[in-house]
Amino acid sequence: MASAARQVDRIAPRLFTAADAAALERRFAGVDAATMLTELLTGELAGRTATVSSFGTESAVLLHLVATIDPRLPVIVADTGKLFAETLVYRDALAARLGLADLRIHAPDPARLTERDGADMRWSYDPDGCCDLRKVEPLDRALAPFDAWLSGRKGFQAGTRAALPRFEADRGRLKLNPLADWDKAALDRYFARHALPRHPLEALGFASIGCAPCTSTVTPGEDPRAGRWRGSGKVECGIHRAGDGSVP
Ligand code: SF4
Repeated sequence: MASAARQVDRIAPRLFTAADAAALERRFAGVDAATMLTELLTGELAGRTATVSSFGTESAVLLHLVATIDPRLPVIVADTGKLFAETLVYRDALAARLGLADLRIHAPDPARLTERDGADMRWSYDPDGCCDLRKVEPLDRALAPFDAWLSGRKGFQAGTRAALPRFEADRGRLKLNPLADWDKAALDRYFARHALPRHPLEALGFASIGCAPCTSTVTPGEDPRAGRWRGSGKVECGIHRAGDGSVP
């Protein structure tokens, strides 16, 4: 069973505080995501920001928003080695379609992978440790040069995300959740308006897509993320932490 909360190493410099995040929340209250991102990514956060994407079911929306503003914005992807083949194909096709010019694919450190998951089965008995090795550590390294990052999380995805703000202080870094208040209908309208391609597994019942061993389909009425780590008690991979460094 996954632990209820675990502490993760603090590695980022102290740049943004919770007070900064709260001030940005007030400043952009009622401002739509595209306007907010345009102002920040061409202004005070220009050259300091990356997007992190799973290239999952709804990733195309944030990536399209970003590509419209600046297709050279770095897009960081964790290739855990356990992703669905369909995700890899979708990733490359979507990046080409959107003209993403700086896709940065980060894999786990090979030596640590051999040391900590030589049998390639850590996901089955220690999913927290597997996520730390294959996702959290690579993303932490990838984000090291940046002062801010964008996440595609939405409040409706799970009960644990219901109160998601648009701005958070993440161990000194500013984390933006531009789609925090978007619902499924708004996402669907955006997909249709811009003729964005869907992840091929969505039509098969996968509402939220991570690694193949830890992702299952959901039934109508379930939270979209209910199929992730089903039955384990684990709800997040570890890249999204509370202000005290704990993981839900
Ligand atoms: S989602 Fe599963 S396979 Fe992927 S890194 Fe986490 S535990 Fe490992």
